[in-house]
Amino acid sequence: MECNLAVIKGDGIGPEVVTEAIKVLDAVGKKYDHTFHYEEILMGGCSIDATGVPLTDEAVAVAKSKDAVLLGSIGGNTATSPWYKLPPDRRPEAGLLKIRKELGLFANLRPAYLYEELKGACPLKKEIADQGFDMMIMRELTGGLYFGERKTEEIGGVMTAVDTLVYNENEIRRIAKKGFDIAMKRRKKVTSVDKANVLDSSRLWRKIVEETAKDYPEVTYEHMLVDNCAMQLVKDPAQFDVVLTENMFGDILSDEASMITGSIGMLASASLNETKFGMYEPSGGSAPDIAGQNKANPIATILSAAMMLRYTFDLDTEADAVEQAVRQVLKDGYRTSDIASSGTKTVSCSEMGSLIAERIL
Ligand code: NAD
Repeated sequence: MECNLAVIKGDGIGPEVVTEAIKVLDAVGKKYDHTFHYEEILMGGCSIDATGVPLTDEAVAVAKSKDAVLLGSIGGNTATSPWYKLPPDRRPEAGLLKIRKELGLFANLRPAYLYEELKGACPLKKEIADQGFDMMIMRELTGGLYFGERKTEEIGGVMTAVDTLVYNENEIRRIAKKGFDIAMKRRKKVTSVDKANVLDSSRLWRKIVEETAKDYPEVTYEHMLVDNCAMQLVKDPAQFDVVLTENMFGDILSDEASMITGSIGMLASASLNETKFGMYEPSGGSAPDIAGQNKANPIATILSAAMMLRYTFDLDTEADAVEQAVRQVLKDGYRTSDIASSGTKTVSCSEMGSLIAERIL
């Protein structure tokens, strides 16, 4: 297969971790007879330095012409970098918002998986961590409270602020469909999370999820109130497969799910549109504190590339091979410094990439 990728290395550790993901993709290509074509575009601080804006229209056009985008991370030290003296719409993060909007990325996927070898980093009780967990938080990304009308005004001498939570049935249906599609590639269970005991938008959410579920008879589904879900994530995370939810609930729950894995350098993510197109990136930021030191953990970016193989190219065997190579390298005792513990061998970012690439079978 010919796979055409836009690559955004970005700022901080971005170039280091993306280089390692490309190394692993090339190993997959060699083993399974695929060719990955990469075209680099600029976004974030490096784009500001080169062009004066965080993302040019030309860069967006290149991204749109490809099958997927592989992204490192963008941004710098928000206290010291001159990028943060610019107006908000010229700062690095504005590039990220622009590309998400231009590419219509409405579904955000964040897996939370507890590796046997990293259980020690899980902040949950040992008996809960011992059960393990493997879930996918699926968050609606372009609607809801963050995009509704807002205003702050003085009413009768009292300052009053209003935010509006709006969802229409089409926005709910397309994310629900994605959620059930993803569940079909996993353990075929969807937990739809809402606040239907209070919110109208949640009652509509629930209705549309139920309608969508009828098209997926193999998938079992349940509804869960968001407050209960927040508790269940720390009490019994093993129960979850796909957690499907709206924008703000997903924002909070995906961070909670990330935390219980205990290892930010391991967390992949994907943002998808209605086609197979996706943007794949690690969940963490540009880590300016360790940038340029060949110390970053590239595994989150490598696992994001595995998600790309699975969800954009439908190359499930190849995605499994990457995930298996990551598990094997951990089993063999190799760690970058962020996940090192006694008795393990600490390796650099580039060594970790090579060790994983060598294990692609
Ligand atoms: P961060 O995620 O960059 O770093 C938080 C901590 O985690 C740091 O100690 C860092 O060294 C560590 N860390 C993160 N990724 C790591 C990795 N792969 N390997 C080893 N350690 C890792 O968060 P921050 O410091 O709050 O933000 C730094 C910059 O990143 C800011 O400019 C922020 O806006 C930006 N940011 C970008 C994205 C993105 O590109 N999508 C996401 C979040 C933050």
